[in-house]
Amino acid sequence: MTLNGKTAIVTGSNSGIGLGIARELARSGASVILNSFTDSAEDHALAASISDEFGIECRYIQADMSDPQACRDLIGNAGRCDILVNNAGIQFVSPIDEFPTEKWDAIIAINMNSVFHTTAAALPKMRKAGWGRVVNIASAHGLTASPYKSAYIAAKHGVVGMTKSVALETAEEPITANAICPGYVLTPLVEAQIPDQMKAHNMERDEVVKKVMLERQPSREFATVEQLGGTTVFLCSDAAAQITGTTISVDGGWTAL
Ligand code: NAD
Repeated sequence: MTLNGKTAIVTGSNSGIGLGIARELARSGASVILNSFTDSAEDHALAASISDEFGIECRYIQADMSDPQACRDLIGNAGRCDILVNNAGIQFVSPIDEFPTEKWDAIIAINMNSVFHTTAAALPKMRKAGWGRVVNIASAHGLTASPYKSAYIAAKHGVVGMTKSVALETAEEPITANAICPGYVLTPLVEAQIPDQMKAHNMERDEVVKKVMLERQPSREFATVEQLGGTTVFLCSDAAAQITGTTISVDGGWTAL
């Protein structure tokens, strides 16, 4: 699979799933733009290291996805945008009657509204180039719910709905829009929780992962960032040209339950 000549923008990609996706797109030959809200030497060094490793152009552009204008400027400042991966996201857990309004607003802004702004800015560029892929990183929580995650679940269901709408608006063009719905993914953030969980439950790593952390994931295995990157690359391939407006679950069977 070659994505030579394509430019991919991955929001929220200086760590975790976004970084994994950016690396797999780079491995497939795409030029890649990394993004987050920070602007550190490490962020730019990360882009340089991906560029060196895969022999492609990789740049880092700072933009805060909670700011509508910054979302649009990210796409505007990027030059081409053939592949847009909306991945930036945050989480907050609380009963709805105690859910802080500012946390609700931040989750809706970063996890859902940013997808509207980046997509609106990217589609004209895709139309001009005559090809485009929108890949939205939703969640198993875009299809099902859990208690205490009202904002996240509202935002992710919103992203799934928006994906369908974008797919219909672009259906007669060589552009597709799909959502990937991961279950529990092994990111550095999740990895860091394992020692505390082992202590709290007095269990070995394997047992705490399978019985506590992956309780809702029937495979009892984490999905990996490389698998999410591979799924994204597939959605960018010619084989996926007629796949649009749908969700692909990468969740070890969670949503089959
Ligand atoms: P993470 O915290 O490692 O990554 C989130 C990324 O978003 C980071 O690069 C962070 O810098 C960036 N970000 C946060 N706020 C931002 C802002 N205001 N502007 C720009 N960038 C911002 O988490 P992750 O697990 O890699 O999550 C990535 C996406 O995958 C999220 O949308 C999340 O909801 C989704 N997801 C994660 C899991 C999981 O198990 N880890 C499961 C399902 C869905």
